[in-house]
Amino acid sequence: MTIEHIHNWINGEACEAADRSWIENINPATGEVVNLLPRSNEEDAFDAVAAAHDCYLAGGQGNAGAGGLNAAQRCDLLMAVADAMTERVEEIAAAESHDSGKPYLNALKGDVPRSIDNLRFFAKAAVAQTTPAVSAGNSINYVLRQPLGAVSLITPWNFPLHLLTWKLGPALAMGNSVIAKPSELTPTTASILGQLFVEVGAPEGLFNVVHGYGHEIGDALVRHPHVKAVSFTGGTETGKIIATTAAPLLKKTSFELGGKNPSIVFADCDLAQTIATVARAAFFNAGQVCLCGSRVLVASEIYDDFVDALAEQAILYRDQIGPLVSREHREKVISYVELAKQEGGEIIAGGDTYGDENGAFFEPTVIIGLDHGCRTVQEEIFGPVLTVHPFDGDEHALELANDTDFGLASSVFTSNLQRAHHFAEHIQSGMVWVNDWNLRDLRVPFGGMKQSGVGREGGEYSMSFFSQDRNVCVRYNYD
Ligand code: NAD
Repeated sequence: MTIEHIHNWINGEACEAADRSWIENINPATGEVVNLLPRSNEEDAFDAVAAAHDCYLAGGQGNAGAGGLNAAQRCDLLMAVADAMTERVEEIAAAESHDSGKPYLNALKGDVPRSIDNLRFFAKAAVAQTTPAVSAGNSINYVLRQPLGAVSLITPWNFPLHLLTWKLGPALAMGNSVIAKPSELTPTTASILGQLFVEVGAPEGLFNVVHGYGHEIGDALVRHPHVKAVSFTGGTETGKIIATTAAPLLKKTSFELGGKNPSIVFADCDLAQTIATVARAAFFNAGQVCLCGSRVLVASEIYDDFVDALAEQAILYRDQIGPLVSREHREKVISYVELAKQEGGEIIAGGDTYGDENGAFFEPTVIIGLDHGCRTVQEEIFGPVLTVHPFDGDEHALELANDTDFGLASSVFTSNLQRAHHFAEHIQSGMVWVNDWNLRDLRVPFGGMKQSGVGREGGEYSMSFFSQDRNVCVRYNYD
């Protein structure tokens, strides 16, 4: 059987890595090779930066964007790509499913439509935005909002196309050119996107894709002087490496990092809804979600019943989730379950591998009895593993919720409005849901505190990150 090769997209052309090296892309549901992707090196990364930079220069570096596209043209381009994706939605969903192992229907009904929505949303933002002007007697100030130039977008494997388009939409809407570095574990949909940009007639070099290992090409995509900003989503430790390179070069950076998010359950919640939502928050996408609620804090008066119900839900989720992204990642998750046992935890559901012997499946797992300070509870596992902890009263719940180095998201389940607002104000996380999890609106800020990141994405927050505002002051009389 011939194995397909996917390519980098540089300056509007599909290309191999300069030294013609390849990486095998493995389907974690079956262990089969999906395709081969270029193992790019610094030369490829610099070629992509040069293409993006030239595209930006071709726009004149002023109010027009990269490739000379004005805001209306950028809107049209993003809409055209969204339309092209819509026509190929099954192919794109299948690619996402083969790369990541996530069930095809999840990709078809979730990841791909959400990615299309991202592009449409920011296409409209391109033409909707305005900038302020202020008049003061003898002068008027106005603001020019201009693109930055070539920007690098470095993205992870858990929602490959969704998280890429979440950055790509605003970067292009604001008139920048882009070098995208998708995860080496899930490269295919970025390559399809590269091809679609060519098919709809995007200017050469506007959207470039470079595949390969982060530690081999990531540094080049951060430090090259023509890269004006880096938007990164991924692990906290990788974020720190990128920050170390970018900080002395004074590059604009955005970091969306890991999480260890609490689901806080009070006795006055809607119990049936809450059990279902807490289970979804922990097990959706096999727990490989930065937002996932992996620390479940439960009011002691309902603790026993809640834990039993959660264990039942965990068993049901076994048939609904896909594998972990790789067997290596599964080894990491297994090591945390072993650690939990050493730390005194009791596994009341799951805890084992299952499914295709060549796959990377791991059961939805519920662990109780752990001290909140132990490593299992404090470190991000990024698998379908949750720990449950009883609390006594609001103050104790808040103390446990904030007892973490992370601060991405949290969910509070209660029918007490006063309590809900108090927690919304005092939990240390960038996002708080009351009586839900992962209910999203593209206009609102997305991002974390503490070790979960720096900066916010979404709507105007993203448009602001991918632009620079210049004030112009015009004096119009000398009286
Ligand atoms: P990762 O940090 O290993 O990799 C992310 C990307 O960075 C990949 O494209 C990788 O190739 C690249 N990379 C690796 N080393 C690099 C380096 N030295 N320089 C530049 N780039 C480099 O993360 P992952 O394992 O792909 O994703 C899982 C992590 O992502 C989890 O920690 C999860 O919480 C986090 N995540 C966060 C969010 C959020 O919005 N906060 C969303 C999704 C995932």
